[in-house]
Amino acid sequence: MAQANKVTVSQGVRMLFSLMTPNESSFATVQEVPTYVSQATTYFTGLIILEIVLGCLMTDGPRIKINDFITSLSAGMMSRLPQLMMRSLELSAYIYVWNNFRLLELPWDSAWTWWLAFLGVDMGYYWVHRFAHELNILWAAHQVHHSSEYYNLSTALRQSVTQQFSSWAFYLPLALMVPPSVFAVHIQLNLLYQFWIHTELVKDLGPLEWILNTPSHHRVHHGRNPYCIDKNYAGILIIWDRMFGTFAPESDQVVYGLTHPISTFEIWTVEFLYYPYLWQRFWEAAGISNKLSVIFKGPGWTPGKPRMGDIADIPQITGEEMPYNPTWSPAMQAYVLVQFFLLLDVYNNLLMDQTILSEMTVLLLTAYVLLSLTSLGFLIEQRANAAEMEMLRCVLIMALQRFGCIKPLVPLLAFPIEAFVLISAVYWSLQCVNQRINRMKKEN
Ligand SMILES: [Zn+2]
Ligand SMILES: [Zn+2]
Repeated sequence: MAQANKVTVSQGVRMLFSLMTPNESSFATVQEVPTYVSQATTYFTGLIILEIVLGCLMTDGPRIKINDFITSLSAGMMSRLPQLMMRSLELSAYIYVWNNFRLLELPWDSAWTWWLAFLGVDMGYYWVHRFAHELNILWAAHQVHHSSEYYNLSTALRQSVTQQFSSWAFYLPLALMVPPSVFAVHIQLNLLYQFWIHTELVKDLGPLEWILNTPSHHRVHHGRNPYCIDKNYAGILIIWDRMFGTFAPESDQVVYGLTHPISTFEIWTVEFLYYPYLWQRFWEAAGISNKLSVIFKGPGWTPGKPRMGDIADIPQITGEEMPYNPTWSPAMQAYVLVQFFLLLDVYNNLLMDQTILSEMTVLLLTAYVLLSLTSLGFLIEQRANAAEMEMLRCVLIMALQRFGCIKPLVPLLAFPIEAFVLISAVYWSLQCVNQRINRMKKEN
């Protein structure tokens, strides 16, 4: 059986398409299981670049916008930060049930166990996902993934921070017999498969459409057209939707995103805006029965309506819908993109080196990542206090560079990057002074 380690290039590519064999992905202990998801960044990047190039060649241009792209990646980065502090809840809860309540001990090195876990995790994901759409309290987390009005590979990375705190419960029946090391492989491969289906470039896969969740099926899932609502919850196999009555094939041109678009690129709002809304609806609802319904029925429910609301109540699709995309200067787009890639390098190193870094360094870098995501979101949104925050952030980067907490991917680039950050800090300081002078002039 395979040894725990870094994945090879061949495995890295195949793990994105659920093409790993039982022989190369069966392990005796959880500790030996590779961190497939953490190691996937390079492969994600490669496919995203390929999608942009093919998009330019095959259509009238890539359907990707820098503001939306950075927001999706920011959400993905934020969603994985809790795992720097603790093992994933899904795995921790699973191990607890296995240790205390298992009924059988299936052999970890049998292909039968591997395939049973493949099916079990995929069906578990179907129900995780379906409940995330059908219970308002869980939708508050999952709506993050649906908040992009575009549909490309970066949309796959737009993940919720809070969804992981509920999804663990759905996989526990498997812990009665399937060893945690087998589950730890499949929970990662199931997530990774769902990356490549977020594309408009793959149209129809023929007979595979009967069995697999494909780009076409998942486009329907991301649609806000009436025929798309609450359909196609599958992870890898579409058979669950066909079995449980939630399947819809792609027909009319899909309009992507939430029925009520959030129209923001500020990451804290994207991640958490639904909770205050839910809280408000809870207090406004009359009587305990309605209050409980606000929490535990569908997001579209209102008093007197069916559990999942009335499809006639959602805004009509006219075909004229335009994604939220306020204008911002090309220079600022280039600046935010460069700063974002520098941040991505730090984030990737943090994920890869988390076990050898001190707790203090992990905390400091986590705070830096969060501050950066906030500041870059403010710049994209062109908020009034964006200059002050970005100036502070540039000063923090210089301090982290001085103390050796962040190092560039290519050592040769250390000096140019330091110079770029210094010039940025000076620029944002001048912007702050300028804004203050203008404010004083207005007051006088
Ligand atoms: Zn969904
Ligand atoms: Zn999706």
